[in-house]
Amino acid sequence: MSKIIKLSALVLIIFIALWQLSKNEKFQFFGNLIDRVETTEKVVALTFDDGPTRLKTKEILQILDESEIKATFYLVGKAIEENIQETKNIIDKGHEVGNHSYTHQRMVLKSYNFVADELEKTNELITEAGYKGEIHFRPPYGKKLFSLPYYLNNNNITTVTWDVEPETYLDKNASASDISDYVVQNTKPGSIILLHVMFKSRGNSMAAVPLIVQQLKDKGYRFVTVSELIGSSA
Ligand SMILES: [Zn+2]
Repeated sequence: MSKIIKLSALVLIIFIALWQLSKNEKFQFFGNLIDRVETTEKVVALTFDDGPTRLKTKEILQILDESEIKATFYLVGKAIEENIQETKNIIDKGHEVGNHSYTHQRMVLKSYNFVADELEKTNELITEAGYKGEIHFRPPYGKKLFSLPYYLNNNNITTVTWDVEPETYLDKNASASDISDYVVQNTKPGSIILLHVMFKSRGNSMAAVPLIVQQLKDKGYRFVTVSELIGSSA
């Protein structure tokens, strides 16, 4: 085999390995990443990505109110700008808010300045909306490679991913009870659950929320925000 073919094969293998690493929920090259916490206490965090949207924010806030739990919302800067009141409503209800970038692009092969701009704009919008807590970051599509973790590490920002993601493993048409069954089976003390409820297409995920809360409460779980979960790690 010629040297060039060997070298191309090597480059390809490295490329595939980096691609896999970039979407690994438990690994990044620099900085602090949390996909769940080690604890013996039956605590769990429910997290919602994307939005806020005018269409669905009210509905999820009402479900969380009725369930008497606090959740964590990873919001997109551009959507915050378009839906300031919805953002304020989430904050006023006492839920945690995190940064999910400004334009929701895959943060791989992006410059350091691009990453900095995306995160800083969104953090400012969250603060301007009245949020007082520490702001964690969740990468769009869970993707990160070099520049993003490097920026997060330099700025002491914690990356929060998840360890329970029903929507990824179930069929697109999975029912609300399929989704809640999956979550209940896969949740452990210290788990972080990821759901998307901000768009019309995710009606079954929205409908799964009260089922998930009830079934996990029945099993003795207590729902906390991601910051509280981090605080409770053993
Ligand atoms: Zn997202």
